[in-house]
Amino acid sequence: MQSLWNDREAAACGDDPLALRVYTSRLLGREPDLVLHSGGNTSVKTTGTDLFGNTHRVVYVKGSGWDLETIEAPGFAPVRLDALLAMAELEQFDDSDMVRAQRAAMLDPNAPSPSVEAILHATIPFDYVDHTHADAVVSITNTPGGEDAIREIYGERVWVVPYVMPGFALAQAVYAMTRERDWAECDGMILLNHGVFTFADDAKAAYEKMIELVSKAEEYVAARADPPPKCSELPSEDLEALAAIRRSVGAAGGEAVLAQWDRDPASVGFSALPEVSDLATRGPLTPDHVIRTKRTALVLDGRPDGDPERAVEQYVTSYREYFERNATEGLTYLDPAPRWAVWPARGTVCFGRSPKEARVVADIKDHTIRGIQATEAMGGWRALPEKDVFEVEYWVLEQAKLARSGAPPALTGKIALVTGAASGIGLACALELQRLGGVVGGLDVNPEIVELMDSDAGLGIECDVTDDEAMAEAVRTVVRRYGGLDVVIDNVGAFPASAPIEEIPPAAWDQSMAVNLTSHQRLWQSCIPFLRLGFDPAVVVIASKNVPAPGPGAAAYSVAKAGLTQLARVAALELGAAGVRVNILHPDKVYDTGLWTPEVLEARAAHYGVSVEEYKTRNVLRTEVRSQDVADLACAMAGPLFSKTTGAQVAVDGGDIRVI
Ligand code: ZN
Repeated sequence: MQSLWNDREAAACGDDPLALRVYTSRLLGREPDLVLHSGGNTSVKTTGTDLFGNTHRVVYVKGSGWDLETIEAPGFAPVRLDALLAMAELEQFDDSDMVRAQRAAMLDPNAPSPSVEAILHATIPFDYVDHTHADAVVSITNTPGGEDAIREIYGERVWVVPYVMPGFALAQAVYAMTRERDWAECDGMILLNHGVFTFADDAKAAYEKMIELVSKAEEYVAARADPPPKCSELPSEDLEALAAIRRSVGAAGGEAVLAQWDRDPASVGFSALPEVSDLATRGPLTPDHVIRTKRTALVLDGRPDGDPERAVEQYVTSYREYFERNATEGLTYLDPAPRWAVWPARGTVCFGRSPKEARVVADIKDHTIRGIQATEAMGGWRALPEKDVFEVEYWVLEQAKLARSGAPPALTGKIALVTGAASGIGLACALELQRLGGVVGGLDVNPEIVELMDSDAGLGIECDVTDDEAMAEAVRTVVRRYGGLDVVIDNVGAFPASAPIEEIPPAAWDQSMAVNLTSHQRLWQSCIPFLRLGFDPAVVVIASKNVPAPGPGAAAYSVAKAGLTQLARVAALELGAAGVRVNILHPDKVYDTGLWTPEVLEARAAHYGVSVEEYKTRNVLRTEVRSQDVADLACAMAGPLFSKTTGAQVAVDGGDIRVI
């Protein structure tokens, strides 16, 4: 473990204790082997002024919801030191009362709630206190001889604290253990199965001690652990099996999830271990991971015809039993779905309602499988007993968070594909799907789509819809990235130059059929196998008012769109038994698209002898129809509102007398 301390960067903090606290907290946060995703916490003792101008001794403690890697000064909660020390003296203190009392002792009521380890920080009599969940240290303590090994590595000057549930109980235990001891003889504390504390009166010394202690543990592990197995051959891709796994896991939790399949050498190597089903189900690296990963992984059937549903059923049954074995009265049963899976010899699959949630699970999984393999060479991987892990998973503070969280947006965890997504109605649909919590693969022939859609929740794919193989690959790309497919908003289309039937050039006719009709059938051929495995799967077809009310000069367009509408009606019949809904939208007079430049609009308005405003609102409702209106309806059709509707045709046109 290298120190990242830099004198020049530190000098920029001046002698402001909080600025230095922010600086070294970020140094700790930059090293994932020390802290992962909001793990670990830090503090500094200094003075602060309350709203009346009175000065107090204050502990700035990392606030909950902040990550050490990115923390800023407002991420630290200023809590009165005397109040925290008084709390340490209490015999009993419920954790929710502790949180309330700590909030009441803050100098700034708008600061975030301090870490649950605030009292522990207060009782350590040094200005800077650093706390991490370093991989190497927790790995060593997760072995049968772990405690002895820690004493052998560190000797007398590092105090060892047996595992106690974080929160008031831990603060109290450490206080009882240390109040009579001489802190001058202590270089740090190891909390078994939990992490490390270091401290000093200056920021650099506390940080450097952390690096020093963790380095010793890393050297100990490196001298003993075998290198993890390498796999020379990566498994072949099976995206339908991946989508089936995703569906079984989501169904167990009662909500759509994304699935991230890791096929890197470390994940595949772990998944191919003969004893993997035992190793992956003994428990987490540290108990706080249970909130993100559950206590155990799902172990799938690795055979080619393995049934994910059965494996998930078994997982849910054993989760239920674990709950019943450990639960006390009044606990809210959490969703029993696994958060990650071992797919024997194929890697691992991590689940989450958003790409970020899945990635956090994947990061923790990467560190966990490394820790497991290191400890197997040091006497065996032994996680904490399940009752300790359960206590953290069903902690009163976590249950309270659950009660506070509202319903997620309607399309959370849904995976969508939108064609013609670079502009107009297609782009509006893609953005609306994301706003409602979904992730979107956007296809367009315009190369700008790649940059336009590039984000966590978006993937832009340049693709000519008349190229069958390119389109099939685009569908696979979306499934590979997110784990499946639930929604297709099929919007792509092109309006050929107006011409009476006898004058339509054959190439223009053929092109309209290719883009406006045939490409859709080809796309669905690639999508349907995945839609059958989707969550409340839905296809929304953007057709045209030209279907119910054709106009002269637009035969090539109207005929293709009428064919597309008929294709969708047949699809509704064919796919209904599989639960796939297919509905049709007929937009008209949508003028905020690339097709309608101000010049074209003015020319059309002049042709009819009306103003542009009047031209845009020439419908029954006298209202302007925007791309966003079409997107709103398309997303409603893709969501729960239309869950009982298929084969329907709905107009978004402000009302058309020819159709009505
Ligand atoms: Zn901790």
